[in-house]
Amino acid sequence: MSKIMDVKDLCKTYIIEKQQNHVLKNVSFSVEEGEMIAIMGPSGSGKSTLLYSVSGMDKATAGTVNFNGHELTKMGEKEMADVRLDEMGFIFQQMYMMKNLTILDNILLPAFESSKEKDKDKVVKHGEDLMRKLGIIEIAGHDINEVSGGQLQRACICRSMINDPKIIFADEPTGALNRTSSKEVIDELAKLNEEGTTILMVTHDAKVAARCSRVLYLVDGNIRGEYNNSDKTKSEKERERALTTWLMDQGW
Ligand code: ADP
Ligand code: MG
Repeated sequence: MSKIMDVKDLCKTYIIEKQQNHVLKNVSFSVEEGEMIAIMGPSGSGKSTLLYSVSGMDKATAGTVNFNGHELTKMGEKEMADVRLDEMGFIFQQMYMMKNLTILDNILLPAFESSKEKDKDKVVKHGEDLMRKLGIIEIAGHDINEVSGGQLQRACICRSMINDPKIIFADEPTGALNRTSSKEVIDELAKLNEEGTTILMVTHDAKVAARCSRVLYLVDGNIRGEYNNSDKTKSEKERERALTTWLMDQGW
């Protein structure tokens, strides 16, 4: 395995009304290609901030992030936007999609903004193939308000995959879903991971985190603990139970 991301001494400080809020305090970790990592921790511990800072969506205050050979923290806006578009995929709890576009057009949008593939037929076929794979091809022509939350989140996964990213960043991708849809979404993410896409996601759900190969536990802007969950010989239930015990020890 090779290292796809290396984060060193990452700091993020927000200044509000002259008060400094040190949200990330010298966070260091690295991600191997093919890993599926969950970031957990109490609300307000800096999980979302960490995800946005390492993906270049937000500017870090100090520290370095090397991603796939790019020194993200030294890049300009435009250059960084291209890396995000071509090499990263994003999934959020709130499923941001354009209201005036069909589901398929929403999925295709990042492809037309990217410099990667310009052949329209190929792009459309790729989008449809992804929808078929995620079991939602029947909603291709629908508006976003005509589908369920679970379907919409699966569409968001398709959108995140349209430019064949090296890594997917997900911020509580199952946070707004019921148990059944949540399981479908994590199943799909696990499948993409098995096929080679690296995944870094924030989650509150031990069931979801138990599907990841590693868990980072964030407290007050620091990684307090790290859990190795790569032993696939255990059953899903056993993995979840063991992780929950570990989380309790962390003060979860
Ligand atoms: P988590 O995702 O773990 O719940 P966040 O990363 O969203 O935590 O937030 C961590 C801290 O950073 C909180 O104290 C929050 O108020 C602060 N924060 C997050 N985003 C901003 C922002 N854009 N401006 C100012 N403060 C922020
Ligand atoms: Mg958050």
